[in-house]
Amino acid sequence: MLFNELHLPSHLLETLENISYKVPTPIQEKAIPVLLSGADLLASAQTGTGKTAAYCLPMLNFLHFGKSKPKMPRAITLVPTRELAAQVVAELEKFSAVQKFKVVQVIGGEGMMEQERALLKMVDVIVATPGRLLDFLSKGKLILNEVKFFVLDEADKMLDMGFLEDVEKIMGYLPKTRQTALFSATFSKAILNLSKKLLNSPQQIMISPSATTASTVTQYFINTTLKTKSRDLNALFKKEAITSGIIFCNRKRDIQGLLKDLEKWGCKVGCLHGDLTQAIRTQTWQDFKAGNIQFLIASDVAARGLDSEGLDVVVNYDVPNSSDDYVHRIGRTGRAGKEGKSYTLCLPSDQKTLAEIEGLIKAPLNFIEISKEKTLEKPLEKKPSEKTTVKKEKPPVKKPEKTEKFSLEPNKIPHVILSEKSVIKTGFGDTVPAFMNVNWKAAPAD
Ligand code: AMP
Repeated sequence: MLFNELHLPSHLLETLENISYKVPTPIQEKAIPVLLSGADLLASAQTGTGKTAAYCLPMLNFLHFGKSKPKMPRAITLVPTRELAAQVVAELEKFSAVQKFKVVQVIGGEGMMEQERALLKMVDVIVATPGRLLDFLSKGKLILNEVKFFVLDEADKMLDMGFLEDVEKIMGYLPKTRQTALFSATFSKAILNLSKKLLNSPQQIMISPSATTASTVTQYFINTTLKTKSRDLNALFKKEAITSGIIFCNRKRDIQGLLKDLEKWGCKVGCLHGDLTQAIRTQTWQDFKAGNIQFLIASDVAARGLDSEGLDVVVNYDVPNSSDDYVHRIGRTGRAGKEGKSYTLCLPSDQKTLAEIEGLIKAPLNFIEISKEKTLEKPLEKKPSEKTTVKKEKPPVKKPEKTEKFSLEPNKIPHVILSEKSVIKTGFGDTVPAFMNVNWKAAPAD
């Protein structure tokens, strides 16, 4: 299918042509017709599947008809993090190149004055995080009576971050007659309860991320110990010629320690975690994308939603606490059909979590043995033209080695690149699980 078969208006088709979007991703192919028809939507889709365009394009189609007023947007996207907000704004601006729409960010961590000033002019769509949005609403600086298109993006993350109460309060400000779309990577009971209150007879779309993201990521693991972890990472960089990428840590305090290590090795490094101001986080992300920073050491806050297109390598310095987080982390690479690699450093105590991850992705990770002697003698260097990507090379096809692996029996350890079989199936595929066949009723929004 091509975009021009989706009945999008000509200004959007022209924009898509200009930015070389030719073929819709599966979520776009399914969600765009539903949203263009005016129906509510409940969609399971992860970042990297093209979900942002799946709702932005119908939203801009809706905005094309009608006129907005100051302080009264006609569409809202509610997102859990500031980074995701910035990314959605960037996508909306990209899609409104031919026909201009006024997009305003209403997010915490930045001064209110500038956002307030922007709202005083005509505003078509706001992209907001819950806390700041409620702030504006309670002060009467924003009125939602004209909102007809409401998107709740990454609803699972929203609830994980404790925003349920805020989301419910925001619902109270929204008009009853509106179109609503809810996107979530996973569906807990809490999400289903929320969706019952928020959505009116929604159409359900379940997209497994497998075909679009993780099947393109070759996933490796390395055995390590607490004592040798930093040295093993160094050896891994050397062995795999890794010169850039995102490195995830579970704890903020470990980020600082690792930062110092990488600086000692001569790498250009930045950090991204929740304690930093928004201005620093934004600058660091831009520096990373521009190639001024080789390695970004990040907490899971940074894992979701960031548009890390072109990123080839993700390193899990710690095995994430949950297998879902693992999927989100490695989803930073291998996006939009491109190839990527992920490396996970495993302690003996990570055995159980590693087994869970392998259960979730329905494939064992590829084992890489790190020679303890192979540490960097000199700083890693990047070619001047290299941005955040590392040089593409054929991943090594390993001969069976005599190495002990603690999570699988030796005969289960593959020493080859994962193939199509290594797809990650964290969604529900195209089948709706029985527990989701609920009776959808619209609950009063206010
Ligand atoms: P998302 O899942 O919305 O974060 O999108 C992941 C990446 O894929 C972003 O960089 C998008 O710009 C890109 N993308 C989304 N849809 C398409 C498409 N149909 N063709 C090419 N690139 C796309």
